[in-house]
Amino acid sequence: MNRIIILDTTLRDGEQAPGMAMTPEEKLAVALMLEKCGVDIIEAGFPVSSQRDFEAVKAIAETVKNCAVSALARVVENDIDRAAEALKDAVKRHIHLSIATSPIHRDKKLRMSRDEVLKKAVNAVRYALTKCDTVEIGAEDATRTEPEFLLDFFTAVTEAGARVINIADTSGYSLPQEFAKLTSFIAGGVPKVISGDAIVSVHCHNDLGLALANTIAGISAGALQVEATLMGVGERAGNAALEELAAVMKTRGSALGKYETAVNTQMLIPACELVSSIEAISPGASKPLTGRNAFAHSSGIHQDGMLKCRQSYEIIDPADFGGAGFRILLSRHSGRSGVASKVGELLGYEPPPEAMDAVMRGFEKIASSEKSVSCTALLRILRDCGLYDGVIYSILKISVLPEKIGKNYRYCARVDLKVNETKCPVISAEDDDAFKALFSVLGSAMPWGIKIKNFSLSLFGAGERLSASAILQAETGGALIRAESNKHDIYAAAAGAYIDAANYAAAAFKLHAHEMSHAGMAGA
Ligand code: MN
Repeated sequence: MNRIIILDTTLRDGEQAPGMAMTPEEKLAVALMLEKCGVDIIEAGFPVSSQRDFEAVKAIAETVKNCAVSALARVVENDIDRAAEALKDAVKRHIHLSIATSPIHRDKKLRMSRDEVLKKAVNAVRYALTKCDTVEIGAEDATRTEPEFLLDFFTAVTEAGARVINIADTSGYSLPQEFAKLTSFIAGGVPKVISGDAIVSVHCHNDLGLALANTIAGISAGALQVEATLMGVGERAGNAALEELAAVMKTRGSALGKYETAVNTQMLIPACELVSSIEAISPGASKPLTGRNAFAHSSGIHQDGMLKCRQSYEIIDPADFGGAGFRILLSRHSGRSGVASKVGELLGYEPPPEAMDAVMRGFEKIASSEKSVSCTALLRILRDCGLYDGVIYSILKISVLPEKIGKNYRYCARVDLKVNETKCPVISAEDDDAFKALFSVLGSAMPWGIKIKNFSLSLFGAGERLSASAILQAETGGALIRAESNKHDIYAAAAGAYIDAANYAAAAFKLHAHEMSHAGMAGA
């Protein structure tokens, strides 16, 4: 069994992505999560780049106990000194040196000859060795470097004491078969790698969408360390995604060969959600594991297949990665078995065929004009069919506006609700945060309350075509509920998702109408 070492660089390469900037406290929170994910090395930052990053690396080095902590440095003494200083208290100190080796970088960026690059790298490795436990050195733009020079370079730096040599496809240029060829050329050519005194690492970028494929190709060709980030965040199109790499190894490990990692896959989706909430970024809808559609099924044939046997269309169990189970999203593509399954969740039983005929007629009417059919809409259909007599909340009107109170502005959220056909008194709440004000006023209308675990909002388009999409994860009665809502206004989308979760909870957990009207009054 080959043990693959995982270096996570979410906090270094990921942090270099446009728009990403974490505070030292936020970086520490992500590092502690990565420790729970079981990565071997946390690349915490580039200490010489700023005082703030130095402090972040230092805090991580002082706190993390079960992983090595890595800091990036160019091949100059000052960088190495700052990296070593920041890593001083780490349990295992890993310095990651980096220098470009390709002709384009040597000539245009560094203005250095091959010999100069090689000499500087060797000196830096010797210097860094006196200051840490492990020295890794990466050849930036390795995939556009002359292979024979790359071999000389890695041979020289490993003779000088580097334990890890990193083949970086910095520009995301390589094809998997080329990358495998290069990796085996290096792994089979560097004497210290052959003798087991050094290992090959691979670091791939996703400009052509090949970061993960190249990383896997690298492993197959002899790399024993891989570099990845949560959700693939990183420069430009990003890096190989850690959770996707773990999914490949878990799902297709036996086809891949005898490899193992220490990754605790159960923590990966929660870790991605943490980064997503800190950086206010959401992965693309179709992104494996973390995208909103990664485990959602909307078409009738697929829903039917999933309900009979989930392996028919899902090769990954989201629960293995700490994610919620598969979701049936109702839309015009949905068929009877998908709708019946959702109805069963809401009512606790599946209605007889003739009652389902009526439900399907109501469903098709709404589905023909709406993008998706919410729980709230489905509950209304069930009520019209005489199958549901619980409460259904609807929003008649909401407003969230800043108001000057004393010297400060606060947000005031006002909500006009309807419980079944009864209009409730207008209720309101204030907060410094607009969404907190909105959720607090909605929460005050419901006796059980739902606890929001995660909320995200995305905006698409502009003007009349503006669409706001809210996704809310909430906890109630020990269960995790997920609701989504798309509207033309951010507050309407947020409130729509909240109400949908609340209506789902009322139906699925059998809460009663009389509790609701009292609460509606009390919240005024
Ligand atoms: Mn990179």
